[in-house]
Amino acid sequence: MINISSIKTHMYCPMKLYIQTHVDMNENTDYQLAVELKKLKIDVKDLIQKNMRKIKKDMKVCEIERILSDNIDSYIKNTADAIISMDLGLETSQINQLIDDTYFNIKITALKIKQSMTILDKNAFEIIDMFFPNCMYSYLLKDSQLELIGMCDKIEIIDGKYYPVTIKSSKPPVRGVWDQDAIELAAYAILLEEEFETEVFVGFIDYEKIEDRRPVVMDVNLRKGLFDVMREVKEITENKKLPNIKKNIRKCENCEYKNICFEE
Ligand code: SF4
Repeated sequence: MINISSIKTHMYCPMKLYIQTHVDMNENTDYQLAVELKKLKIDVKDLIQKNMRKIKKDMKVCEIERILSDNIDSYIKNTADAIISMDLGLETSQINQLIDDTYFNIKITALKIKQSMTILDKNAFEIIDMFFPNCMYSYLLKDSQLELIGMCDKIEIIDGKYYPVTIKSSKPPVRGVWDQDAIELAAYAILLEEEFETEVFVGFIDYEKIEDRRPVVMDVNLRKGLFDVMREVKEITENKKLPNIKKNIRKCENCEYKNICFEE
């Protein structure tokens, strides 16, 4: 069974997948930390959604911003304390970054809500679907025939159609999406098609640092690309094939395996 997280690692660097699977026998806390941080972000979005219900159309932007921020700071700090106690290596800089990103998100959302309420002449609770469509978070998808499994960050359901969404805290490209993000989304799309017996034509990447949603069309080439990557992942994880790679200094500098790689 291929986990979509292995596809992500392979797209970052095939050697990293090889080392993670066959060389590094230490428990991987990075993955657990990423999962906990994702859960925290989802909870924060839920809180913002709840707070939005209290907003009235005659409120000023600063007031809207204050209401959207209700309980957010304390929730982030308390949850961060709980994550720190799990000893997953959460750093203060990551918590501060998370708080900055959240308040940036709240600022943008407050402006959009104000503008939408003015144009539509409605209170916030009447337009909540515009900002928070019906969705499922952290949905586990699995297909035994494809031998593929993964946890989709978000599945939005609009007019009976399903849209996979992945939420990225990485820097976005200037245009479009990164190849690895598109391949990952395609993997969720095909699992979603099997799970709900539907067709997925488009999915979205949310680059949360700049609050930007970018569409990805699930065309034939992308699906073919995904199956090519899955074959390569299997070769590495199941057949222990040592990948032939060109080292990329920019990536290697930030990689936890640089000591292993450069030694060998
Ligand atoms: S150090 Fe570089 S080559 Fe080695 S696994 Fe990391 S990114 Fe890949």
